Amino acid sequence: MKLIMLGAPGAGKGTQAEILSKKLGVPTISTGNILRAAVKAGTPIGLKAKSFMDAGALVPDDVIIGIIAEALRGPECENGYILDGVPRTIPQAEAMEQQGVEIDCALDIEVEDAVIVERMSGRRTCEACGASFHIVNFPPKQEGVCDKCGQPLVIRKDDRPETVKARLRTYHEQTEPLIAFYKERGKLKTVENQPTIEATTAEIEKALGI
Ligand code: AMP
Repeated sequence: MKLIMLGAPGAGKGTQAEILSKKLGVPTISTGNILRAAVKAGTPIGLKAKSFMDAGALVPDDVIIGIIAEALRGPECENGYILDGVPRTIPQAEAMEQQGVEIDCALDIEVEDAVIVERMSGRRTCEACGASFHIVNFPPKQEGVCDKCGQPLVIRKDDRPETVKARLRTYHEQTEPLIAFYKERGKLKTVENQPTIEATTAEIEKALGI
């Protein structure tokens, strides 16, 4: 299965990608997680990406295209992959096509902006391993501590309310056109966000026929 997760920031792409990744036995590639790790490690890519990320803007396409080409070259991607948060612009999608990146399906999770703003204010993220929780919808077993690796959970800088609004604007302007892009190619599947993570997973499984 070669899958792209589409949808606004906070739509649940990362959470659903993790669930699907386990079920299908293929890795999730999240450019957001790769970039956050690069920022933390202070690599040249991280230094370039940081100011864009903090402002809720997109990191330039050339940086992302390099990252994704390298990530997909790994042997773990041979049997498939789930792309979370990439492509995010038409030029990224076109570059991936030119590189011969194959896609079976682009799955769009539809959520209203108001729900997203509310949801992102409760998100808590592990800086060490990239896992994501929610204080109400998906709390960690112990408050403020990552279930997966035991490190502290933090509020991502770009989950602050003013940055969330900027990210939603960026989404509507630059990423939403990808829905038409994949529809034209006959690859698009759409699911409506549901009140719980499990119910949304069920909708996705139905849409994908898995
Ligand atoms: P995410 O964790 O997917 O919400 O990504 C967090 C931030 O990383 C975004 O707001 C962007 O600044 C940057 N980012 C992640 N993926 C991409 C991408 N494919 N293209 C451009 N910027 C990206």
